[in-house]
Amino acid sequence: MQRDDALAIVEQALKRIEHDLFDSDWAEAKARVGEGVCAHDLARSPAQRRADALVEMARRSGAVGAGARYPEPLFTVFVGYESFAGRICELADGTVLTPGALVRWLSEAWVERVVFESPDRVKNVGVRRRIFEGATRRAVEVRDRECFHEFCELTADDCEIDHVQPWAAGGLTVDDNGRVACGHHNRLRHRPDRPSP
Ligand SMILES: [Zn+2]
Repeated sequence: MQRDDALAIVEQALKRIEHDLFDSDWAEAKARVGEGVCAHDLARSPAQRRADALVEMARRSGAVGAGARYPEPLFTVFVGYESFAGRICELADGTVLTPGALVRWLSEAWVERVVFESPDRVKNVGVRRRIFEGATRRAVEVRDRECFHEFCELTADDCEIDHVQPWAAGGLTVDDNGRVACGHHNRLRHRPDRPSP
């Protein structure tokens, strides 16, 4: 077992016990102080609770009988699909490309996004429309009403509908991925020398 995995297992177990101790401290303080109970009323400091949790973990380990089933650790790991399957970059006819080969086409080409669940099973085919229009546009206008920028109050009538995840990066033209943006803030975002607002 890697050292990081082992630490994560210890950390998880300790947190769970600390959480239990916190709950019981809270219940005790609430019974003593009443509804207005706050963190200052707790009998133990966080450091004391952690130390006690460690002792409790040792006591519980001693109480486990032979042949008992260990709880399975849960790790939540975010990885790109490439980490499992390796990177794919090829045209539909099988011509292999470098990732940068189509960049110069992105401002004018249509991009179709196809998500595969497994090599021969398609899960989702993206929408090919680039521009928000009709009911989709209206849905975003009515929902957002003003430019997305925190300090901008330009109303939807004078704004454009912008892709939250850019079209060129595979963002779909659907209301979930749309937002109201005034011309200024929309352009500002796409200037490569400026960070997104
Ligand atoms: Zn704006």
